[in-house]
Amino acid sequence: MESKYKHAEAYCLMKYKCEKCGKTEILWNSRDGVTPFMINCEKCDGHMQHTDWNEDKRIINYIPKIGQRVFIDMPFDYYKIYCRVRAKMIKENVEGNTDTLQKIYNNLITEYNKKEPYIIKI
Ligand SMILES: [Zn+2]
Repeated sequence: MESKYKHAEAYCLMKYKCEKCGKTEILWNSRDGVTPFMINCEKCDGHMQHTDWNEDKRIINYIPKIGQRVFIDMPFDYYKIYCRVRAKMIKENVEGNTDTLQKIYNNLITEYNKKEPYIIKI
């Protein structure tokens, strides 16, 4: 069927279930973008899996609850800091790497993709 959205999960409420502690959580996808199959569980740090796909419900003007987690586009300010952390890890842990920290960072930052999902908590 033709959809005006690029992604099936656009603006959907989606259920995730923790495979370790069993906790379930409803996240909202705030944009027409991809969402991960697995996310972290805030309760036990295990992995939560998208479940009950058929129950995904599209609500374009959904207003999240306080404390609810929401998917947004990758914020560049976050990505820059994340790349600095990753560059440092590479510099310190990858043997034989002679690149400067700045060069490693410059390479990482070129991989920025705004449409990647990022989770915020309201
Ligand atoms: Zn859990």
